[in-house]
Amino acid sequence: MRKSLIAVAIGAALTVAACSDKDATQQVNETAQTEQAQNSAFNQSNPFYAESTLPYNAPDFTQIKFEHYMPAFEAGMDEHAKEIEAIASNPEAPTFENTIVAMERSGALLSRVASVFYNVAGSNGNDDTRALQGELAPKMAAHSDNISLNPELFARVKAVYDNREGLDGEALRLVEDTYKGFVRAGAQLNEEAKGKIREINSEVSSLTTEFQRNLMALAKENMIVVDDKAQLAGLSDSEIQQLADAATSAGHDGKYAISITNTTRQPILSSLENRELRQRVWEASAYRGTGNTETDNRPLVKRLAQLRAEKAQLLGYDSWGDYVLENSMAGSPEAAQEMLRDLVPAVVSNVEAEKAEIQAMIDREGGDFDVQPWDWAYYAEKVRAEKYALDSEEVKKYFEFNRVVEDGVFFAMNELFGITFEQRDDIPTYGDNIRVYEVKDIDGETLGLFYGDWFTRDGKRGGAWMSSFVSQSNLLDKKPVILNNQNIKLAAEGPTFLSFDEVSTMFHEMGHGLHGMFSDVMYPSLAGTSVSRDYVEFPSTFQEDWMLNEKVLNNFAKHYETGEQMPKELLDKVLAAKNFNMGYDTLEYIASALLDFEYHTLSPEAAASIEDVAAFEAAALERNGVAIDAVPPRYKSTFFAHVFAGGYSAGYYAYMWSEILAADAFKYMQEQGGLTLENGQKFRDTILSKGNSKDPMQQYIDFRGQEPTGEALLERRGLTTPKID
Ligand SMILES: [Zn+2]
Repeated sequence: MRKSLIAVAIGAALTVAACSDKDATQQVNETAQTEQAQNSAFNQSNPFYAESTLPYNAPDFTQIKFEHYMPAFEAGMDEHAKEIEAIASNPEAPTFENTIVAMERSGALLSRVASVFYNVAGSNGNDDTRALQGELAPKMAAHSDNISLNPELFARVKAVYDNREGLDGEALRLVEDTYKGFVRAGAQLNEEAKGKIREINSEVSSLTTEFQRNLMALAKENMIVVDDKAQLAGLSDSEIQQLADAATSAGHDGKYAISITNTTRQPILSSLENRELRQRVWEASAYRGTGNTETDNRPLVKRLAQLRAEKAQLLGYDSWGDYVLENSMAGSPEAAQEMLRDLVPAVVSNVEAEKAEIQAMIDREGGDFDVQPWDWAYYAEKVRAEKYALDSEEVKKYFEFNRVVEDGVFFAMNELFGITFEQRDDIPTYGDNIRVYEVKDIDGETLGLFYGDWFTRDGKRGGAWMSSFVSQSNLLDKKPVILNNQNIKLAAEGPTFLSFDEVSTMFHEMGHGLHGMFSDVMYPSLAGTSVSRDYVEFPSTFQEDWMLNEKVLNNFAKHYETGEQMPKELLDKVLAAKNFNMGYDTLEYIASALLDFEYHTLSPEAAASIEDVAAFEAAALERNGVAIDAVPPRYKSTFFAHVFAGGYSAGYYAYMWSEILAADAFKYMQEQGGLTLENGQKFRDTILSKGNSKDPMQQYIDFRGQEPTGEALLERRGLTTPKID
């Protein structure tokens, strides 16, 4: 049971899903399909049949067609099941090699097809991939259960675990990790309880896939079509053109279509002058999935909370949160909730100060209303412009895409780690405008491949993320093939400019990328980013801060026409404005993180008794002291994809936990001389190369010399003292 493989199966739910329910005719007879897979459909003509012969086993997208996926999945699951059976029924006494290592070697075909399919489905999906995802979700869940609930296999794993005293280092970690994985999956339960776990896993898998699929449907249902261009005052000509193009592709020629993005807050609200339209956009976003249009996510929210609570109870935990956080750095929901709640007073007082400034701006402009959530971003932008005289459009002129990539991100990584990125135009990709680089180490040795898929496209899910086609393993002699995704809008013509946040996100994703790229472990289960959720965002958040390092900034932030460096005056303003609105940003996040825990610390009975999702949400926010009307949660229940469509249930807090580590580590590195190869090497040796081969707190202490404190986080966010002005 390669954990990376199981993670891929779970990750499936995070990627996009179908817009309509799967057609009954697509539900094929499983037996017939398996036979077909073994006979005609799966043979050497299928590009997944053997390892890719391209450099680094990069997927050969000149050969891969949609019809290759399903036969390869069927054959891959079949092959993996046989390999596992052979391990479980091995007549020899169980050893680390013939059991644990053999499992690490298993599932190669399934891993090949899954890593390609789920990446393509997430980055360049369509109705076909979405339908296939829906079809695969329960099969992959069942496949995973067949392994983790196999009693003969578990008996062998337990035997190795019970006799582990001769093992050390990575091997010991792998045995403990594998054993714990089985126990947490229910291997020690009786057959009846195991059967229930299977049922729950299968239903959760289907529901999370449906939730994600519904989000796509809801985006369509809630698209705002504007007839009159005058209503779009405040947008630039190119932005208006993009809305016109979007309307045309949606069949509303001559009109303007505003799409809803995946957070409550909508980026367009910072520039739309028309208050009524702002309200329309905000309401379309905030109320999506609440039964006001065809697609309703409320039943899924309730059912998922209940199923998770039931599963936790079966496994002997008080709540789903207790079960999930057992495997984290934080250790328990209480510890994570306490960390979040400790921040609330400082954050709320900052929010109140921000709100007062925004209300003053509204009053000065003669607006006769109290600030509403759809007003916040628009007036915040005005306050920002006045207070810092900072025009984000002017700043963008210094964030031209190519300079950001090459002279910013790549430059910083070269300064810190000595690595270089060489573009490889000969490696095929799965879509337009994807760049492939070969990454070379400081000594010229090759490290792996890096795909930069930075631009938005139809069929790409929202947000930004890192994943891999091939993960590093010395056992399997694999170098990493890493992928970064973002949703930057490619300019219709001329240079593409990035916002401050988009630049920061690119550094962030590179941080995950290097966690995968520098991985230097034996076993694939322990490679790269396969660490606990509250640790995985640490290396990525840590890299964000290099964007504002003076040397880095001076190297990439140059005017796209004149090539001049960003003037000192503007740079000072950017730095001063960095933490503007940080009270809002932090509170909307904390509100969602606490909401996540409210759903996932319930008993099965309490979860089953949720009647009204909106009322539950409101009460939860109130109870945690984060119910502020003008600052709604970043994600509300009915579109909280992290927790109801993906693997972040009882885990959304993890970003803040990781940020504590990131802020503390970055501050420490600054004290040690900042951007130097020596510092980079230490970070690489202690953190980035280790994957999950060592306890995360120990990794951190190896780097830092002590455990982290929250102080640097508050400094990083400018929230140490409530603002009074
Ligand atoms: Zn991240």
